[in-house]
Amino acid sequence: MHYDRAKLNQEVPILNPPRSCIRFFVVLLSLQFFLATKTLANTIKIDDVSLDSHSFANIKDVQTTHLNLDLTVDFTRKQITGVAEHQLNWLNPAATRFVVDTRALVIEKVQALTAANTWVNVPYILGIADPIKGQPLTIQLVAQVSKVRIFYHSTEASSGLQWLGIAQTTEKKQPFLFSQSQAIHARSWIPLQDTPAIRITYQAKVKTPPELLAVMSADNSKNQVRDGDYEFDMPQKVPAYLIAIAVGDLHFKPMSAHTGIYAEKAWLDKAVYEFADTQKMMDVASKLYGDYHWGRYDLLILPSSFPFGGMENPRLSFITPTVITGDRSLVSLIAHELAHSWSGNLITNSNWNELWINEGFTNFVENRLMREVYGAARADMEANLSYHELLQDMADLAPEDTALKVNLTGRDPDDAFSQVPYVKGQLFLTWLESKFGAQRFDQFMAAYFKKHQFQSMDTEKFIQFLQAELLNKYPNTVSLAEVQRWIFLPGLPKDVVVSPSDAFSKVEQQLGLWLAQETPLRQLNTKQWSVHEWLHFINKLPRDLSLEQLTALDEVYRFSSSKNAEIFVAWARLTIPLNYPPIFTPLRDFLTTVGRSKFVVPLYRELKANPEKTGLATTIYREAKPGYHPLTQSQVEKVLF
Ligand SMILES: [Zn+2]
Repeated sequence: MHYDRAKLNQEVPILNPPRSCIRFFVVLLSLQFFLATKTLANTIKIDDVSLDSHSFANIKDVQTTHLNLDLTVDFTRKQITGVAEHQLNWLNPAATRFVVDTRALVIEKVQALTAANTWVNVPYILGIADPIKGQPLTIQLVAQVSKVRIFYHSTEASSGLQWLGIAQTTEKKQPFLFSQSQAIHARSWIPLQDTPAIRITYQAKVKTPPELLAVMSADNSKNQVRDGDYEFDMPQKVPAYLIAIAVGDLHFKPMSAHTGIYAEKAWLDKAVYEFADTQKMMDVASKLYGDYHWGRYDLLILPSSFPFGGMENPRLSFITPTVITGDRSLVSLIAHELAHSWSGNLITNSNWNELWINEGFTNFVENRLMREVYGAARADMEANLSYHELLQDMADLAPEDTALKVNLTGRDPDDAFSQVPYVKGQLFLTWLESKFGAQRFDQFMAAYFKKHQFQSMDTEKFIQFLQAELLNKYPNTVSLAEVQRWIFLPGLPKDVVVSPSDAFSKVEQQLGLWLAQETPLRQLNTKQWSVHEWLHFINKLPRDLSLEQLTALDEVYRFSSSKNAEIFVAWARLTIPLNYPPIFTPLRDFLTTVGRSKFVVPLYRELKANPEKTGLATTIYREAKPGYHPLTQSQVEKVLF
C-alpha cells in the first residue's frame, strides 16, 4: 500500500479480551448439529490456534488452498451476497474444526461436501466480536472434508467495502464499489483465513447490474462483454489481503502489450498518458529482480474518495486519481505499486509485525526503478523528501514503534502503517547497498526474490538469508550486531545514508535570495523546477510569513489554485495557521472532492489547531463526510471530535 502519514496519532484501544472469557452463541441448529454437539463442547479450545495474533484461523490444523467465490453485488441494499467455497488441506490428523475470520458478516448457512459427494448442512458458531479482529466462525465437522461452503452477506459495517453513490463518482452516472482488504479487512466481505501466513488461489463469479463492469485482482480478460455476469481466475497463490474487487462504469484502454488502464471514462485518456512509462518500469524491474510472475499489470483508477495513494492488488493495482497531474510528476506511486509485484506480493510479510518486509523492500525497489527510468537527480530528490517525512513521523511516534520489527499484539494492524516500515526499511537496504556495492546488492535482491517467491517471510528468516548470502561471504563488511541495531532498536543508526540532493541545495539558495530581499520572486531561477523542487521550496518557507509575503508568492506562483494535490496541500498547511484568506475557498473545494487520507487528515488537523477555524472544520466535514471512505471518516473524526 502507499503510505498515508495521516494514519498516525490514532488512539488505539487495547481490547483483546482474555481468551478464557470468550463465549459463544449458537446461530444455527440442524440435525448435524445435534449429532455433533457433544463433541463440540469437548473439542473447542481457544488456545494457540493461530500463528498470527490478528487472525482466529486454525491454520496449524487446516488450511484453505483454493477459494471459489460466487458473489452478487447489490447496489440498492449496499450488500455483497455470496458463497465462499473453501478447498481444504488438513495438516493435523486429529482436527475436525475449521475456523475462519469474519467481521460484520451475516452467516446464513454452512455446508460440507461428504465422502458421498453430497452437500450437507453443518453446525457452526460465530464467536463474540473482538473490536479489532472481528468474529471467529468455527465450523464443526464430523470428518476431514475436502470442501466447505459458507453462505453469507456483507453488512453496512463491512469495513473492507466502500459503496459510492452516483454523486461521489467522477462521471456521476452510475454507482461504484471498491474493496480495500489490507490489513485485515478481507474478512469483512469474505469469510476466510485472513492471515498473510498462508496463500490461496481463487476463482470468482460476480453478478452486477448489467450496465456495470466488475474487475478483480485476477485475470480480467474473460469479461469482454459488459452484461453483469463476470468470471475471474487468480492462478497464482496470494494472501487474503490481496483479494480485491471493484464495480463501476469502468472502461479499459491498453497502454502497452502487458499494461493498461481501467477507469471511468473521464480519467481514461489522462491516465493512459500519465502512466505511459509503466511498461518501461516493468521491464527494468524484471531485468533487475527476475521475471514478473503475474501475467498482465493493469491499473484501476478509482474515484477520488479512495483513502490511499495506491493498493498493490496483484495484476490490477488500485490507484488514486490525485496522482494524475498531466506532467507524470507523481508516478513514483506506480513504481511503488509495481515493485510490490516482487516485494510483498511475491514474498509476503508472514504477519503484520513484519510489515517492513513488504514496504521497506518496496520503497527501496521503487526508488531503484525511479533511478533507472528517470535518472539519479529525481530519485535523490524523492529519497530526500521521504527521509524528511520519516523524521517528522518519528518525532510523533513512541520509541518502540520506530523499530523495524514491531509488536502489534492487541493493536490494530493498520497502526503499523507509519513511515518507519517504509522509509527506515528503505534506508536499511540503502545502507546495506552502500556497504556491499550496488552490483552485489542487486544480485542479492534478485536471489532473495527467486529463492522465496510465493512464500511468507519473517525478519529472522531474512537475517539468516542475509548472513548466508552477504555477511559471511564478504566478512568484515557488516556485522550481525549492526543489522540487529537497524531492525530491532528504535530510531536511526548514526551512519544512515541519505542521498544529498544538489537540486534541493539550489532551491534553498534561491529561497535564501528572496528572504534576504536580494532578489524579487519573479527573478528567482525556477524555470526547470519539478514538483519535488516546488515541494521542497514550500516546505522550507518560514512558518511566520506576512500576509504581504504570502500574497506575493501566490501572485507569482499560483499555489492556491494549483491542480497538483501535493503542492496545494503543502501550501494549505502553511497558510491555514496564518489565516491567509484566499486559501479557504479552494480548501473547501479540495476537502469536499478528495478523500485521500494523506491529504485530508493533516488539513483538518491544521483547521482544528487554528482557534478561528475550528467551526469551519466541522462545517466542511459535515458536507464532505458522505464522500469519504470509512477509514478516512474515522481518522478525521479522531482529529475533530
Ligand atoms: Zn506499499
